Amino acid sequence: MAGAEQDHVVEQIVKRLWASHGIAARVLKITLIKSLRDHTQMALFNFTRAVEVSGNEKTGAVSTTYVSQASCPKECAFFNEGCYAESGMAGIWTNRLNAQVGGKTALIDARQIARDEAKAVDSLTGQNDLRLHVVGDCRTAGAASIVSKAAERFMGKFGRRMWFRR
Ligand code: SF4
Repeated sequence: MAGAEQDHVVEQIVKRLWASHGIAARVLKITLIKSLRDHTQMALFNFTRAVEVSGNEKTGAVSTTYVSQASCPKECAFFNEGCYAESGMAGIWTNRLNAQVGGKTALIDARQIARDEAKAVDSLTGQNDLRLHVVGDCRTAGAASIVSKAAERFMGKFGRRMWFRR
C-alpha cells in the first residue's frame, strides 16, 4: 500500500474507533501503522484483495484473500448483523471491496467473483500458508469449485496448507 493511502486508511480507522470507543488515538495509530506495514505486497483485483504476507498474531505470517461481500450467501446470519468483517480494520477493506462492485447486495454471478478470487490466489507466491476469504465466501458449488482448484494450484507450489473460516 502506498504511504499516502496507508495514512488515509489509518486516519479513517482512528476516527471511527475514537468516536466509538474513545481509545487513545496516538497509541492506536502506532499499532495500526505497524499492522498495515505487516500487510505487505498487496494486490487488488475486481472483487478481491490478495495479501502475500499478513501479520496476524493468531495465525502468524500467512497469505490471505479478502473478497467483496457480494460473494456472501445473503442468508448468512451475520450479513449486516455483526459480521466481524463489517467493522474495524477489516471493515475498511470490506467497504472498499463492496464499493468497488456496487455494494454488498450487488447481484453478481458467484462464479464471476470466484474467478476473480482464483486469479488473486494464483498471484500469490505459495510460500506461506493461505487463509482464504477472510471476508467473503463462495455461495454456490460452482464458485467453490473454481476457488478450490486455485487453492490446489496454490498448495502445489510449495506444499503449504490452505484453510478458511466457516
Ligand atoms: S464475510 Fe462471512 S460472516 Fe460476514 S457476511 Fe460474509 S459469509 Fe457472513
